[in-house]
Amino acid sequence: MSGVAERWQSITAELSAECARASRSVDDITLVVVTKFHPASVVTELFTAGARHFGESRHQDAAPKVAELTELDLTWHFVGQIQSNKARAIAQYASVLHSLDRDSVVDALAKLEHRVSGFIELNLTDDPGRGGVDDADAMLKLADRIASTDTIDLLGVMAVAPQNVDPEEAFERVATMSQILLQAHPNAASISTGMSADWQQAIRHGATHLRIGTSITGKRPSSG
Ligand SMILES: *Cc1c(COP(=O)(O)O)cnc(C)c1O
Repeated sequence: MSGVAERWQSITAELSAECARASRSVDDITLVVVTKFHPASVVTELFTAGARHFGESRHQDAAPKVAELTELDLTWHFVGQIQSNKARAIAQYASVLHSLDRDSVVDALAKLEHRVSGFIELNLTDDPGRGGVDDADAMLKLADRIASTDTIDLLGVMAVAPQNVDPEEAFERVATMSQILLQAHPNAASISTGMSADWQQAIRHGATHLRIGTSITGKRPSSG
């Protein structure tokens, strides 16, 4: 078995154990393997090991990789910043978009001929230049805009825990924002948090979608 397949198996085993400890069902968790900067062959290895959900963060890297893998029955998630002029192209292969954060992206997706699922990205940093909406007001406005489209199913909220903050604190903030969103959009109950460094805490704070890269794929060939 390859190193990648072994790491996939050990993460899925740890995930079951962590769910048991947190009294959660592993069936409620979607484990997305983030394969950015890794070649299509890594995706194929992981598929053979049992992985079905894959995430990418850059359209120009993702598009050719996805095109190489159309034979496999995969679900692609897009986790990176979305430029509105690329949104349509991304939605041709990614059925779940984790990083909706602007009207212009929602408006571009509103014109699709098929449906996609989306999360609203929350910006948990003090830097307004980062991806994501900054507060509850902005989240609710964007949620209403998403709900008014015929093409996007709003799943919930997504966030990256900032590096200089205790992830527990970050995930509590996400849980609070999720509760606020749920009052207005009762079906938007999903939470996309948890990466290689903090996914165990994310599980304990209600994450339904984990986006795990390096713990499974190994170090990325180039950074970003
Ligand atoms: C790269 C990336 C991940 C995975 O990060 P790891 O630390 O390698 O697990 C998750 N979410 C987003 C938005 C990413 O860009």
